[in-house]
Amino acid sequence: MMLERSIGGPDRKSPGRPDGELGPGAWAEVILGLVYPPVCVVCRLERAGRHHGYVCDTCQNGVRRITEPCCQRCGIPFSGTIIGSHTCAACRRGSWAWDEARAAVIAEGLALECIHRLKYQKEPWYGTFLSGLLMESALPRLLGHSWQGVVPVPLHRVKLREREFNQAERLAAPLARALGVPLETDRVRRREATSSQTSLSREDRIRNMRAAFEPARSPRIHGSWIIVDDVLTTGATTDGVAAVLKDLGAERVVVWAVARATLEGDLLPARQA
Ligand SMILES: [Zn+2]
Ligand SMILES: [Zn+2]
Repeated sequence: MMLERSIGGPDRKSPGRPDGELGPGAWAEVILGLVYPPVCVVCRLERAGRHHGYVCDTCQNGVRRITEPCCQRCGIPFSGTIIGSHTCAACRRGSWAWDEARAAVIAEGLALECIHRLKYQKEPWYGTFLSGLLMESALPRLLGHSWQGVVPVPLHRVKLREREFNQAERLAAPLARALGVPLETDRVRRREATSSQTSLSREDRIRNMRAAFEPARSPRIHGSWIIVDDVLTTGATTDGVAAVLKDLGAERVVVWAVARATLEGDLLPARQA
């Protein structure tokens, strides 16, 4: 179920006033309805308004949410039953700068397509749907704790100019608002535009990404911080951001991504855990 407050704004489900006039909020909805017809932006069949992130219930149900069991450190989902250790082999091999990473859904099919459309086709309404997915999973785990800031993974300034917006920032903003925690976009800076890292070993990726970020300003920080990204793949990118936050003084850093890439969309067999 989407969280209503994730989408924000007043409830405009009943736009009509008793006198039959439309209020200002209702007019905004009417105008919005002309620009973005209230049908699902994915299947274009079922109705889906702004309060549902413009994605209908059927399409929403087609997204695979990540649930337990998963690695207690990096959140990669396991299939089957876990007996004993809850940490995956990769997390046991090396240490991350972040303390915990989690993602809301598996990076496949519809979820991945929506992320691509947000990023490369600049279709902003996917941000509403994706941040809704993020908050549906993240808020129950994050509310009730004390957080100092939410840091979206920064883009390099050249890439930011090309894309015109940072998708991680767009996903992080509603989460920060819902938690009542500042959105910190000028705490960490991307030093260099990294090229594809797919051919590199895990250790080389981590080393590269630790060199790719630097503090954007010097004041010391403390307490617990949240990093937000669109897709969590190896964990190396968010590790680079977390390393900067830890160097600045953060005591605890958790990562939240909308989607988690798994090997060919498969869950990790429990026996490898
Ligand atoms: Zn649909
Ligand atoms: Zn792990």
